[in-house]
Amino acid sequence: TFTVAIIGRPNVGKSTLFNRLVGKRLALVDDQPGVTRDRREGQGRLADLTFRIIDTAGLEEAFDDSLAGRMRSQTERALADADAVLLLVDARTGTTPLDNHFANWLRSTDKPVILVANKAEGKAAQGGLMDAYALGLGSPVPLSAEHGEGMEMLYDALRPLVDAAEAAEKAAREAAEGDGDGKGERPLALAIVGRPNVGKSTLVNRMLGEERMLTGPEAGVTRDAIASDWAWKGRPVRLVDTAGLRRKSRVSEKLEKLSVAESLRTIRLAEVVVLLLDAAEGLDKQDLTIASHVVEEGRALIIAVNKWDLARDRDATLKAFRDRLATSFAQVGHNIPVVTFSAMTGQGVDKLMPAVFKAHEAWNRRVPTAALNRWLSDMTERHPPPMVKGRRLRLRYMTQIKSRPPTFAVFQSSRGELPDSYGRYLQNGLRDDFGFGAVPIRIYFRSGK
Ligand code: GDP
Repeated sequence: TFTVAIIGRPNVGKSTLFNRLVGKRLALVDDQPGVTRDRREGQGRLADLTFRIIDTAGLEEAFDDSLAGRMRSQTERALADADAVLLLVDARTGTTPLDNHFANWLRSTDKPVILVANKAEGKAAQGGLMDAYALGLGSPVPLSAEHGEGMEMLYDALRPLVDAAEAAEKAAREAAEGDGDGKGERPLALAIVGRPNVGKSTLVNRMLGEERMLTGPEAGVTRDAIASDWAWKGRPVRLVDTAGLRRKSRVSEKLEKLSVAESLRTIRLAEVVVLLLDAAEGLDKQDLTIASHVVEEGRALIIAVNKWDLARDRDATLKAFRDRLATSFAQVGHNIPVVTFSAMTGQGVDKLMPAVFKAHEAWNRRVPTAALNRWLSDMTERHPPPMVKGRRLRLRYMTQIKSRPPTFAVFQSSRGELPDSYGRYLQNGLRDDFGFGAVPIRIYFRSGK
């Protein structure tokens, strides 16, 4: 379970917040007066979020000689168990050296920290709030644990962290289940889309290794493509409903366009989408529309050029495809994998599935938070975020919220719209430095309130 540690100097209201999050009844059970306690734990709840919560209160009596040092060792233990930290400060008294001490120290760890300015009800809190900004942990979440105010802001700050942890856990579980001989591994959902006659059926027949679908000039039969399961090198693959395979007759198909609605449906069912093209026909507007749908839907895209046996100048043909992709997809164009083969002769078809699995792996990849934040500080050092309204935007923390496709949250320390160009800088950096290839990458920027 997601674990939150409440950290802060004495008297900032840690226990009050703990009680509020855990609920009075539970807190009383855990709280044993008269017993020297290092920490209390309980099941915290905030709207639909539940988490384990550790309170580090109750130290003040024990060690006032070297409070900072003693609290630190105490806090260190709580921190080791925590997925996130709430650093509490007192919005009324303003920050003290001990607050600074905690802030500095927490900044040096890679645990996500939510700065909470407690006792923020009423006007007396204004000064302390401004103070809290200076701790360098981003905008404080102002709340009143006592009065239960501002809890929705705490929720907003906590939610992405809980989501990220849950997604990481799920991915780890799936990866573990996927180990071994492939049994229990979820099949890779693959779609093959393309205009009529590019050779989808031929390719599918070849991949499945049997004449499961009819193809060839005489085929005038309704072919209903259903999901087909097979294994590639022992790894399960599910070929999802293939747009364009369901046609009534050869006569109408010449006129038929690949229906965008139909391919969209297929794309949504898939994890990896192979857009099949005909070497002789190039990449037309319709193909590009489909390709951009794949990217917009956050699926991994592979371009496969079929009928390579008919291509005359192969180098020039391939270059033309690549150039077209590069100009049409500014961000990822040059990274989109292009595979060439002849579905009819079988030549080169064996390159397809390795490319599919490679894209799938990147699509599923998770980057550990510590590595991401090291990377983020490198990136911002090399090329600092711009000034907005006289203040330099600071990006203080980053985490991968989910994979499939890789999705990241970057937490800004102050409000202000980060220009798109900076987002692209980070996106391209992630792509290059963590090997995401052409897989769509999403980044959300959040500023504290
Ligand atoms: P679909 O409409 O995309 O399913 O295309 P089909 O698989 O039915 O193929 C359309 C036509 O192209 C058929 O006549 C196939 O024999 C032919 N074809 C498919 N793949 C190749 C290939 O690699 N090379 C050549 N020369 N012809 C191919």
